Amino acid sequence: MTKTISTDLARVSFANDGKPPTPIRPHLFAATLNQQLQTKLDPTQVLEMFRDAVTEAVPGVGVHFDGSVEGFVFSVGANGPHVANYNLDVDGQRMGSIEFGCEKRLSAKDLATIEDLLSALAYPLRNALTHFEALRAAQTDPLTGLFNKLAMTRLLERELALTRRSGQALAMLVIDLDHFKDINDAFGHIVGDRVLQTVADRLREVTRASDYLFRYGGEEFVILLCDGDQAAAMKAAKRVQQTIRECRLGDGEGGLIRVTASIGLTQQCDTDSPLSLFKRADLAMYRAKRAGRDQVRASPYT
Ligand code: GH3
Ligand code: MG
Ligand code: MG
Repeated sequence: MTKTISTDLARVSFANDGKPPTPIRPHLFAATLNQQLQTKLDPTQVLEMFRDAVTEAVPGVGVHFDGSVEGFVFSVGANGPHVANYNLDVDGQRMGSIEFGCEKRLSAKDLATIEDLLSALAYPLRNALTHFEALRAAQTDPLTGLFNKLAMTRLLERELALTRRSGQALAMLVIDLDHFKDINDAFGHIVGDRVLQTVADRLREVTRASDYLFRYGGEEFVILLCDGDQAAAMKAAKRVQQTIRECRLGDGEGGLIRVTASIGLTQQCDTDSPLSLFKRADLAMYRAKRAGRDQVRASPYT
């Protein structure tokens, strides 16, 4: 059965036969844990700290949280066979559900301890999830749901540093739709938006799980190929070019809108910054434009 833990702290704190549970160690007091949790803004770190406190109080317990914030899941430790489930509500708003799994049966005292610690988790986790959601919104393009330019800059810094350490290759594709303004002018911006969404969906389908896809700006997309060199990028670019050519979009009058893209690519070199890597791929894209559009061009990287 799933129990709902709300921010009615009195009810939660005194679930142990009407008395506050006896803490095993002073630092496990819910209030202390609450203070510690408030120092973290990352929901994963909040839950890790919470899990440490729970497993210290009730050894062998696993913590599994499924957040109502899309895409946020945390799961560490045992899964069962004995479980206790709780819905976590803060100020009447559902934050998600949390499950405690254990090899041994959880006693009433274990559950009271868990519930006491849950009361310490509620607000810090709500704040961290709100922060997580805001960060994600700031890095997501609302029209296509892809990462935006801010996300790209941040991610590139990290990926370039990783690449320098690992010695793996990294390649970038800059994709710019051809004569997109004409599509807007001929069919209106709503249809133009639909074209962008359709292209984004097709690009998602042809991008490997290990690669990243961004909407850089208006009708410009970027793909970052992790562990991909210039040759792999060329193959990927040809695939993308074909995929965009095959986008089938009705113009609302029985005709089809023709969509093509010019694509520039390059591989990273040791001295690259996010900007220098992008600049080279972007220059190659403009060469593809000048070569007549619906073309792929590569910039040398040494
Ligand atoms: P080129 O082949 O040289 O790239 O030509 P183009 O028309 O694609 O390029 P240009 O830069 O002249 O025009 C880009 C157009 O993209 C103009 C702008 O209104 C449109 N655009 C940018 N963002 C959006 C958007 O979110 N929705 C729609 N519908 N149009 C957009
Ligand atoms: Mg453009
Ligand atoms: Mg364009």
